[in-house]
Amino acid sequence: MSLREKLKALEELQQIDLDVAGLAGEAEQIPIRRAQIEAGVAAARKEYDAQRARLDDNEREQRGAEQLLQMERDKVKKWEGRLGEIRTPREYAALSREIDIARKTNETQTEGLKALVAQATELHKGLDAAGEALSEKEMAAEAEQAELSAREQEFGKKLADLEVRRADAAKRVEPALLARYEGIKKRRAGIAVAAVVGHTCRGCNRNIPPQLFIVLQRAESIETCPNCNRIIYSAAAVSPPAASSA
Ligand SMILES: [Zn+2]
Repeated sequence: MSLREKLKALEELQQIDLDVAGLAGEAEQIPIRRAQIEAGVAAARKEYDAQRARLDDNEREQRGAEQLLQMERDKVKKWEGRLGEIRTPREYAALSREIDIARKTNETQTEGLKALVAQATELHKGLDAAGEALSEKEMAAEAEQAELSAREQEFGKKLADLEVRRADAAKRVEPALLARYEGIKKRRAGIAVAAVVGHTCRGCNRNIPPQLFIVLQRAESIETCPNCNRIIYSAAAVSPPAASSA
């Protein structure tokens, strides 16, 4: 196998590895997104439960106020019945005053109860809205989770496909060169092979020395960039535009 072909295989390997890394990066986002969706539903459910609790409190308060009011009304009725049995004007006046006070208190309590009932109407509206928001959130979450599952499957398929292609490309690179490639890849943010276009290394965007440029044109040896230490090749020499039509 010519060096040109080896360099092409390396170039291909590099592209596959970049694709794998890109895919892995996207796949990593899935569990993060899943957690966000779940948190959104949990927040909507919490809001619904809070509205429910507010309404429950209101209803409990209403029942308490109604019972109290009923007791007070019964008391007033009893006192009113007793008025007829009273013989002394002083006692009569005293009880009448008590009755007046109790009636006024009951009026205030009745107003309070009305306010609670009005508040309950608003709370019901709030609860309905929160319930609707919750079920909308749940439905959207379910749909998106299913979509994410489909994407996970798709990623799995693509990854399996890339692995097959990678094994094939790796076979075309001799073990020592492959080990060198892996070592540089680890040290250089996943990119071990860079094309030189013009006089510029695409790995670090710095110009290579003129002498090295001439060596690269021959494509007869494995060279590395003096600046970023990546394996470099001349794009024009390894994949000349004319070669594709030949
Ligand atoms: Zn470089």
